[in-house]
Amino acid sequence: MAKYVFFFGGGKADGKADMKQILGGKGANLAEMTNLGIPVPPGFTLSTEVCDYYDKQGKKYPEELDGQIDEALAKLEKLMGQKFGDPKNPLLVSVRSGAAVSMPGMMDTVLNLGLNDVSVVALAEKSGNERFAWDAYRRLVNMFGDVVLGIDHEHFEHEMDALKKKRKAKLDTDLNAADLKELVAAYKKVIKTRAKIDFPQDPRQQLNFATNAVFGSWSNPRAIRYRQINRIRGLLGTAVNVQTMVFGNMGENSGTGVCFTRDPSTGENYFYGEYLMNAQGEDVVAGIRTPEPLSDLKKEMPEIYKELDGYRLALEKHYKDMQDMEFTIQEGKLFILQTRTGKRTAAAAVKMAVDMVAEKLIDKKKAVARIDPYQMEQLLHDRFDTKAKREKIAAGLPASPGAATGKVVFNADDAEAAVEKDAKEKVILVRIETSPEDIGGMHAAQGILTARGGMTSHAAVVGRGMGKCCVVGVGALEIDYKKKQFKVNGKTVKQGDWISLDGTLGEVYLGQVPTVPFALSGNLDTILGWADEYRRLKVRTNADTPGDAKQALKFSAQGIGLCRTEHMFFGPEEDRIYWIRRMIMADDEAERKNALKKLLPFQRKDFTGIFKAMAGLPVTIRLLDPPLHEFLPQDAAAQKEMAKQMQVPPAKVKAKVESLHELNPMLGLRGCRLGITYPEVTDMQVTAIIEAACNVAKKGVEVLPEIMVPLIGTVNEMRFLNDRIREVADSVIEKKGVKLSYMVGTMIEIPRAALTADEIAEIAEFFSFGTNDLTQMGFGYSRDDVGSFLPGYLSKAILPEDPFQRLDQVGIGQLVQMGIEKGRSVRPKLKVGICGEHGGDPESVEFCHRVGMDYVSCSPFRVPVARLSAAQAALKDAK
Ligand code: ADP
Ligand code: MG
Ligand code: MG
Repeated sequence: MAKYVFFFGGGKADGKADMKQILGGKGANLAEMTNLGIPVPPGFTLSTEVCDYYDKQGKKYPEELDGQIDEALAKLEKLMGQKFGDPKNPLLVSVRSGAAVSMPGMMDTVLNLGLNDVSVVALAEKSGNERFAWDAYRRLVNMFGDVVLGIDHEHFEHEMDALKKKRKAKLDTDLNAADLKELVAAYKKVIKTRAKIDFPQDPRQQLNFATNAVFGSWSNPRAIRYRQINRIRGLLGTAVNVQTMVFGNMGENSGTGVCFTRDPSTGENYFYGEYLMNAQGEDVVAGIRTPEPLSDLKKEMPEIYKELDGYRLALEKHYKDMQDMEFTIQEGKLFILQTRTGKRTAAAAVKMAVDMVAEKLIDKKKAVARIDPYQMEQLLHDRFDTKAKREKIAAGLPASPGAATGKVVFNADDAEAAVEKDAKEKVILVRIETSPEDIGGMHAAQGILTARGGMTSHAAVVGRGMGKCCVVGVGALEIDYKKKQFKVNGKTVKQGDWISLDGTLGEVYLGQVPTVPFALSGNLDTILGWADEYRRLKVRTNADTPGDAKQALKFSAQGIGLCRTEHMFFGPEEDRIYWIRRMIMADDEAERKNALKKLLPFQRKDFTGIFKAMAGLPVTIRLLDPPLHEFLPQDAAAQKEMAKQMQVPPAKVKAKVESLHELNPMLGLRGCRLGITYPEVTDMQVTAIIEAACNVAKKGVEVLPEIMVPLIGTVNEMRFLNDRIREVADSVIEKKGVKLSYMVGTMIEIPRAALTADEIAEIAEFFSFGTNDLTQMGFGYSRDDVGSFLPGYLSKAILPEDPFQRLDQVGIGQLVQMGIEKGRSVRPKLKVGICGEHGGDPESVEFCHRVGMDYVSCSPFRVPVARLSAAQAALKDAK
C-alpha cells in the first residue's frame, strides 16, 4: 500500500531531510529536526504525491488517504493526551503547506484548527487565559475565511479596525477577551455573507477544507507565476503538514520569532532575527507590530536565548548551510517550527560560502556550486555614485541591498504595465506593505519601498530573493493610494516622480541619483577564482570597442568572441557615418572604393586598440552584418540634412533609401550576402584587420585574429568569401613582412548552415553559434516584433520562457548539437563557441558545456556569471 502520511513526534519521524521531493522542504526538515532531538511540536505530513493525485484526478484523493490520516491523528492524540474535536480537551493543529523548494508566502497556512464554539471555552478554562483562547479562535476564523474560503483579508481587517476604533485601542494586544469574542462573531458574519456558509464547527471538516485549500493553492496563479519567475520545475506539488499547535500568544512569557543563523543580507556570522512577545505565527512577518531584534531576547529571556543559540549552531553544522528558523515560546518553553536553507542576498551568499570554506564547514567545490548564478548578477550591478548629491527624504530598514532609481508607482499592476509597455521604463513600487499578489509588480520594478514591516516582512524576503533593492518600514511615509501620492517629512511625491533607493543604507532620495559601475573584488573574486579551477569552457566577451575589451578583461574574459564591426561606423568622431553613407550612395565601384578608403583607417585604428588590449587572447571579428538601410536616415528631415552634407539632391537620398527598402530586411541583403554583392567591402575590412594585426604584432604583442563571416547558409558562400579573405589577408601579411597566423570561420545562425555543417566545416576553421538569429529563424519569430505576442505566449504557457533569453534546448538546441557533430565529423578540432545573448545565461551555458563547445561569449558584465555557470556545469558533469 502506498504511504501517503508520514508521522513525526515522540523523538522520531518516518521521514528525513533528503525526502524533500515527497515531504516538501518543511515536512522533511520537521522530520529531520525531530530525529535530531530538537523540540518540534509533533504532527504528520501528507506527501506531495497526494497533491499530484489531487491535481491530476480532478480534486480527488487516493482511497487509502483517509484511513492513513485517521491513524496518524489517533497516534498524535495519544502522544499529546488530547483529542481532536474534544469539547473538554481539544487537540489543536496547524495546517501548513510546503513544497520541495521553498516558496515564501505563496501557499497558505491555517493555525489553531480544531477550535469551535465549545472547545474555545474549554481552552480558556484549561489555560486559565480567556483572552488567549478567544484570540486563537478569532485568528482561526480569520485565516479560515481568508485562506480556505478565499475571502479577501481586508474584510476581516475592516472588522478589526472598526472594533479597535470603538475601543480606542492602538494595538491588537489592547483588545480584551470580551472584545475578541465580539470579533469572532463579526468574523463569522463576514464568512456567512461572503462565502454563504457557516464557519464549520466540526474539526475534521475544518481539516478537510483546509487540506483542499492548501493542495488547491499549488495551482493558483500566484504560485504558478512564482514558479515561472524562479524557474522552479518538475515538482509533484506541495505537501501538507498537520502539526500540533504551540502558542506564542499565551501572555508575556510567550512569543514567536524568525531567525537566521547568519545575517542574510550581509552574510556576517552572528545570530540574526526578530521576535514579538505575546504574538502568534505570522505576526512577525506581517508587520502588524514592529518586532524586536533577537539581541533583546538575550536580555529578556537569557535561558531561552541560550537554548535557541544552541539549536542555531547545531542546525548549521548539520545542514552545512545558513538556516532560516521559526520558533515559538509557549509560557517559557521553546519550540522550533521550521528550519530551511535561508534566502540571502547575493553578497551574503558569496561571503558565507567563502567563510564556510575557511571554517572547514564545506569545501571549495561546494562553495562554487552553492552560488546561484542568476542571483549573482545582482552583485554585478551599479552602485550610487558616492560623489553624487543625494536629497534624502526618508529612511527605513535596509532590507535588500543595491541601488535603484525609477518613477513612483503605487500598485503592482501599474509597475507591470509600465514595463510591459516599455522594457526600458524604470519604476519603484511604493506600497504600505506588499503581499504575494504583488510578485509580478515587484519583479518588474527596479526597487521596492514599503511603509510598514520589518527585515523579515514579505517585501524584504521576496526582495532579497529576487535581488531587488528594497527599503521597508519607512514609518514616515504617508501613502495615499487614492490620490496616488505619498507625503514624507513635508515633501509630496506623486505617481511618476523619480525617486532613488539605497537598499544597503535603507535610504530614500528624491530624483534620479546617478550610479557607478561595479568592480570585481573581495569574496566574489575569490569564488570566481575557485570557479576557474573547475570549469572546462572558456569565457569570452562580446566587445566592439577597446573600452569594452578592457572592461571585460577586468572580469577575466579569455578573448573576444564577437566584435561587431558595424558599430565602428556609427561613432561621431571622424565623420565615420558620413563615409559609410558615401559608400552606400556610390554610383559605381570606383566611388564606392574611394569611400571605403576613407573608412579603412578608422577600422584599422579600432582593431589596433582591441588587439593591443587583448594581447595574447583570441579576437573574433565579424564582417559587416546589418542591412545597409540601417545606416541611412529614414525620416524626410534627416534625409534632407544628409543630402546637404553629401551635396546631392534630396531626391537622390530618398531614392536610395527606397531602393534599399526590403519587406523583410532580416532575411534580405545582409551578412555574407553584402560581402558577396560588394566584395570591396570585405576587402577593406580584411585589410584593416590584418594591417592592424601586423602592426601590433610588429611591436612584439601576440595577436590572434579570427575573421568571422556572418549568416552563411550554403558552403558556396563560405568558399567565395574564404578565398577572397585569404587572398587579401595573405597579400597584406606579405607586404608587411611579419609572421602572423589568422583563422577564417563562420557564424552558424541559419538553420541550413547547421544542417550542412559538415560541408561548411570543410572550409570554416571555427564555428560560432549566433543563437539570436538561429532562434529567430528556427522559430520563425522576428525578434524585433515578438512584443506583440510573446508576453501572451508566456502567460498562456505556450512557451515555457522567452527563447531569446534562454536557449530553447529542445528545438534550437538540436540545431546547435547537430552543427557541432557534423562540423567535427570533418574537422575534429573545429573550434566552437556561442556568441548570442544566451552565452551569459546560466542554463544555456550549462547546455554549451554539455554539447562540447570550447567557449561561450557574452556581454562584459555577464562574464562573471558565465565563469560561475561554466564551473557549475563542469562540477555537475563530474558527478
Ligand atoms: P510559511 O511557509 O508561509 O512560513 P508556515 O507554515 O511556516 O508558513 O506558518 C506560518 C506561521 O505560523 C509561521 O510563523 C509558523 O511558525 C506558524 N506556525 C505554523 N504552525 C504552527 C504551530 N503548529 N504552532 C505554532 N505556530 C505555528
Ligand atoms: Mg514558515
Ligand atoms: Mg546574426
